[in-house]
Amino acid sequence: MTKLSINSERMRADFDALAQFGSTGDGGVQRPSLSETHLAARRWLREQIEKVGMEFRIDGAGNHSAFLKSPNYQLPITKTLLVGSHTDSVPYGGRFDGALGVVAALEVLRVLKENNIELSMNLEAMDFTDEEGTLVGLLGSSAVGGHLRAEHLQKPRGGRDAFEAGLARAGLTEQGMLSVERPARSLAGYLELHIEQGNRLINAQKNIGIVTAIVGIMAYRLKFIGRADHAGTTSMQDRRDAGQGASAFTLAAREIVLKDFPRCVANVGKMEFAPGGFNIVPASVVVSLEFRAPSDDEIVQLDHALIERAKLEAERFNLGLEIEFLGKHSPTPMSQVAQKAFADACDELGLSHMPLVSGAGHDAQSLAHLCPVGMIFVPSVNGASHSPREFTEWCDCVNGANVLLQAALRMAGGAA
Ligand SMILES: [Zn+2]
Repeated sequence: MTKLSINSERMRADFDALAQFGSTGDGGVQRPSLSETHLAARRWLREQIEKVGMEFRIDGAGNHSAFLKSPNYQLPITKTLLVGSHTDSVPYGGRFDGALGVVAALEVLRVLKENNIELSMNLEAMDFTDEEGTLVGLLGSSAVGGHLRAEHLQKPRGGRDAFEAGLARAGLTEQGMLSVERPARSLAGYLELHIEQGNRLINAQKNIGIVTAIVGIMAYRLKFIGRADHAGTTSMQDRRDAGQGASAFTLAAREIVLKDFPRCVANVGKMEFAPGGFNIVPASVVVSLEFRAPSDDEIVQLDHALIERAKLEAERFNLGLEIEFLGKHSPTPMSQVAQKAFADACDELGLSHMPLVSGAGHDAQSLAHLCPVGMIFVPSVNGASHSPREFTEWCDCVNGANVLLQAALRMAGGAA
């Protein structure tokens, strides 16, 4: 039997058609979750699924999917292997992020269907709702994974009004969102093709990145508290300058990561000075700190190192310090089974590959406790992402889709 492979032109036509929804005219797309343009893109997706006679499904979280039934389909015994990504975008985003994974997943199912490949499990190509978080973030996959709680929907990061408007447009309800959890026994795994959104593959001249883990993220608000004084008449020695402490901490955070945590990153994305004036010594500075690490050990140690350093800098500048913990997503290792399926598929196709940690969050992390999850990355030219400059060579997109197809066959027990 000749090896199955995806139809490049057909996938390209889908990719280009999807990029028209919310096109910004310069290569980008504006397709925030559950916006009119996003819903139009989803109606188009549904048409593509039904056009080839596949079963279309939608759940209470709005997740759209194509469902390819196994011949020995008998719920709930027959497991389902999920493949997919997301069709929503960040505001003024790129046309590859998420969209590539969705059209590739759809193409994988079409190839299996038209070749009458009978697998021992069902295959389902997913378009998860609100991966990007213009409303909540990883919304559809958290709902499927059973992490979503009513309180998460009360204070969505995109604001309650935008969330309610999106639900109304899509005909969804909060109750529906909270009732789509799938039992672990029904899932065989989740595989996703995505663009790298960085430049490690290009620099290493590799075709495919096999994701080993999705980083964990922690966030704090740190308030350095000093004393407002006249900026001209107070001597340097007498000041309790919150700006000095906050700035010293920010630079120290960089040094700590560079020196002791080579696989991690830390970011101070915001500093708010009060009262905030040319001629007033800053009385307080609120620092928005976020850091990411690929393993539990590293995130615990980095957390400790950064917080201890913040205390030290506060003391050094004679300041008070208030520490507000804002939340933690634990690092998510990808399944060994999925990583091996991807590596074997690459080897078989003659494609080079390398292990990579994902510095961005993805839907796979919502499902990792339920089933083996895995992801591959294809090269992002110049590492650009969340921007109209996002670009991946089409041959790399096709390579990624073929690896996805072969890995799905392996995971579904139908290795070619
Ligand atoms: Zn994405």
